Amino acid sequence: MAHKESPAIGIDLGTTYSCVGVWQHDRVEIIANDQGNRTTPSCVAFTDTERHVGDAAKNQIDMNPTNTIFTVKRLIGRRFSDPSVQSDIKLWPFAVVKGSADKPQIVVKHKGEEKKFYPEEISSMILSKMKEIAETYLACPVKHAVVTVPAYFNDAQRRATKDAGLIAGLNVLRIMDEPTAAAIAYGFDKISSNSAEKNVFIFDLGGGTFDVSLLAVKNGVFKVKATAGDTHLGGEDFDDRLVNHFIDEFKRKYNKDITTSPRALRRLRSACERAKRNLSSATQTVVEVDSLYEGIDFCSRISQARFEELNMDLFTNCMELVKKCLQDADTDKASVDVVVLVGGSTRIPKVQQLLNNYFDERQLISRGINPDEAVAYGATVQAAKLSGQGSREVEDLVLLDVTALSLGVEVTGGVMSVVIPRNTTIPTKQKTVYTTRHDNQTRVRFSVYEGERALTKDNYLLGEFALSGIAPALRHVPKLDVCFDIDANGILSVSAKDRTSGQKKKITVTNKKARLGNEVIEKIIKDAEMYRAQDEECRRKYESKNSLERYAYRMRNAMREENISSTLPFVTKMAIEDAVQETLIWVEDNQFPDVPESESRLRELKRICSPIDHA
Ligand code: AMP
Repeated sequence: MAHKESPAIGIDLGTTYSCVGVWQHDRVEIIANDQGNRTTPSCVAFTDTERHVGDAAKNQIDMNPTNTIFTVKRLIGRRFSDPSVQSDIKLWPFAVVKGSADKPQIVVKHKGEEKKFYPEEISSMILSKMKEIAETYLACPVKHAVVTVPAYFNDAQRRATKDAGLIAGLNVLRIMDEPTAAAIAYGFDKISSNSAEKNVFIFDLGGGTFDVSLLAVKNGVFKVKATAGDTHLGGEDFDDRLVNHFIDEFKRKYNKDITTSPRALRRLRSACERAKRNLSSATQTVVEVDSLYEGIDFCSRISQARFEELNMDLFTNCMELVKKCLQDADTDKASVDVVVLVGGSTRIPKVQQLLNNYFDERQLISRGINPDEAVAYGATVQAAKLSGQGSREVEDLVLLDVTALSLGVEVTGGVMSVVIPRNTTIPTKQKTVYTTRHDNQTRVRFSVYEGERALTKDNYLLGEFALSGIAPALRHVPKLDVCFDIDANGILSVSAKDRTSGQKKKITVTNKKARLGNEVIEKIIKDAEMYRAQDEECRRKYESKNSLERYAYRMRNAMREENISSTLPFVTKMAIEDAVQETLIWVEDNQFPDVPESESRLRELKRICSPIDHA
């Protein structure tokens, strides 16, 4: 956990813009950069003398297009051969080549030399900039951060984002889903435990991407029910439409094609973006660029209605994806309780109107928090919570997390019996029933493990305890209820209770003491992947042997009941007892027998036991 003295920040690492916040004076403070802007372009530029990040990089893009890197989020954690990478790099003015292990590398000229960077390195430069913005504001070093990623990011993309944080000198407390962060910003995690599950729809239309997600929220726990979107739809596409509109107008008015000048295009694009922003609050605006092309000063007007018409198909696309997301989640639009607007482009009145119409005027919210700051806002709340900063109000928030590794207990043969699988959202409670191995056994030892391997010897022991006072009975008869409970703070308690005697025992494993660090977790998951086939075989062997053993004990216990055995002919009774006995000896002698052998023994035993097996 981060230290109280070292503030933790929340960073929305966006495709086109990034945003940073810190918890101060009992609330979230979104921090403005050195230019006074509360969002910073996710842009890095290399020149003969310097490296620029943010506004300074974006502002010099016309002069230095091949060495100005933007939208690197589209590359992070992906392979060079990924079709989406291949189609993106065709459109970019900077070069991307194939590095080792099919990783993409960005090629730039810096201080007169050719340099290659992995996407993580470029992202780390943006994260460093966001860290610096916070440090300047707070006047102290910042070490800890929560960084957000789209909900659809896979493991590799999340890991690469975390690595970018490490390179930037940040301890990444959590990689958090963007829609969850937005929902937290609006306080949906505080929905009280006795209220019903709420469906929160997150509509995130940013500069380069469009993401929608349906979240189910209950007791402060968020479940992503479905996501949809378009990784190439956003504010820049609306800018494009305006740019093309004015290129045509310039052609008509002056019979000149400005597309032959990248500089003219860039300047027109900046003017169009400004015009678009104005049109969110004005019904018309002016687009003015001095000496745009061959000394001609360009000046024109555009109305909100014309802007909407130019982009109507893109807006309609957004609405189609909203429908798709709800369909995928098998949820009717009437069941959506609230729609949260995220991303700068949701300020466009037409977008809000279409959403309003679709959701029958139900509550659309973007008020109170700027839509382009909502994700950073939620990340900051989470950072304050995780670092132990903040007031009672933050302390009361529920900590959201998933289990990094599977948790379970050791059963016969040193096998890991998983109770809570990896990636389960916490807090969680899972129950299972175990039994005894010997007749009249009154004490059972429970060893609690964490890990992904089939045998506990390859996993990590978290703690052990013994349950005594079990009511004496034949083996496999007692029912011992075992409960794994992970609370909102990641603290695991394991309890066992004998149903007959009512005897109970419990241990608690705290996150900090016994659970594993991130590097170890990553290694465990990698190892588990490597040994997956081998472990699977081991598990199947154990399960088939276990079914045979369970069946044999059930039959043996049945035979001990007077009313069953006394009705059998002597020969049948002997045959069953011999078969059961022989099976139990065989089970004892063979730790991991082949599956077909266990299965054929089970079939044979069932045949012999059919006179008493009425299950
Ligand atoms: P984000 O990635 O969420 O920061 O969104 C950035 C995008 O929002 C850019 O394409 C901006 O041009 C766009 N944007 C910001 N403010 C407005 C506004 N008032 N109206 C329309 N688009 C806007």
